[in-house]
Amino acid sequence: MRILIIGTGGTIASAKTERGYKAKLSVNEILRIAGIRGDGVKIETKDILNLDSTLIQPEDWVTIGRTVFESLEEYDGIVITHGTDTLAYTSSALSFMVRNVPIPVVLTGSMLPITEPNSDAPRNLKTALTFAMKGFPGIYVAFMDKVMLGTRVSKVHSLGLNAFQSINYPDIAYVKGSEIVVRHRPPVPSGRPLFDPRIDPNVVHLRLTPGLSPEVFLSVAEKVDGIVLEGYGAGGIPYRGRNLLEAVSKVTGKKPVVMTTQALYGGVDLTRYEVGRRALEAGVIPAGDMTKEATLVKLMYALGHTKKVEEVREIMEKNIAGEISSAF
Ligand code: ASP
Repeated sequence: MRILIIGTGGTIASAKTERGYKAKLSVNEILRIAGIRGDGVKIETKDILNLDSTLIQPEDWVTIGRTVFESLEEYDGIVITHGTDTLAYTSSALSFMVRNVPIPVVLTGSMLPITEPNSDAPRNLKTALTFAMKGFPGIYVAFMDKVMLGTRVSKVHSLGLNAFQSINYPDIAYVKGSEIVVRHRPPVPSGRPLFDPRIDPNVVHLRLTPGLSPEVFLSVAEKVDGIVLEGYGAGGIPYRGRNLLEAVSKVTGKKPVVMTTQALYGGVDLTRYEVGRRALEAGVIPAGDMTKEATLVKLMYALGHTKKVEEVREIMEKNIAGEISSAF
C-alpha cells in the first residue's frame, strides 16, 4: 500500500517564532515528531506549500488539486495537511475541481502545533492515515476522531480541538479504539477522474445585517461577478425602510446573487416566509443546505464555467460533490 502525504502548512506544520506560530516544518519533520512511521505502508511525502492557511488563495487550490489529480494513479490514498482556518474552503474547492477520485483523499490539520506538548496533530494524522488506507473513494476531512465529507465541513471553533463539524450531513466515520468505524457511505460517482480547475475568484460574500445600505450593496455588486448574501434564518431580504430587495433585484438579471444563512444548521428555504418568497421572485438563488464555504467556492466554480445567470443557477442547484441535498 502506498500513501502520499501532501504538505501545505498550517498549525500542524508550525513552530513558535518571535512573531507567533509560523508554518515551517516539512511533512517528514511532522511525521518524525508525531512518531508515525507507517509500518507496512509506504508513505511518501511532498511539500508543495508551507503557509498559514489565512494566506491561501484560490490559485493555491488549483496547485493542490493538480498535485492530487496527478498522484491518483500512483497511490492508494492521499492525505493533505493544511491549516484549519481555510481548510473547509480548500476541501470544497478540491471536491469541485478533482472529481471521480478512485481513492480516499483526506485533509487534516491541527489546532495545536506539532511542536507543542499535547498537540492534536499526531491524533488527527493517524485518523487521516487510517481512513486513507480504507479505500473509500472521495474527498474527506479527518479531525478529532471523526471523518467528514469534504464539501460539508465548517470550522466551528477557533480554539477548541473539536474544531470541525459536518453541517446538515452525517459524519462519514469515527474512531473507536484503534479502529475506524464507517457509519455513512456517500454515493460513489462513476466515471474517469477529471481535473476541472476553471474558477472565477471574483465573488464576494456579504453578511446581511439590519440597516445594510442598498447603495453599498450596489457599489460592491458592480465590482464582482457574483455575490453570496448571508441572510438570517431560513432566508429573506428586507424591503422596509432601506429597500435592499429593490437593489438586489437590479442585480439578479446580470449577476448571480446566492442566498445562504447565518444559521449554522438547517440551510435556506426561501419558500417558507413572505420575505423569502419575495427574494425568490427577485431572482435570488437559494443555497439550500450547503455550507457557507461550499456555497462560495461553488459560485466561483460555476462562474468559471459560465457568466449566464440561469446557467449559474442550474449549477448551484445541482449536486456535484455531495454538497447539497436533493430536498432543496
Ligand atoms: N492559522 C492556522 C492556519 O489556518 C490555524 C490552524 O492551522 O489551526 O494555518
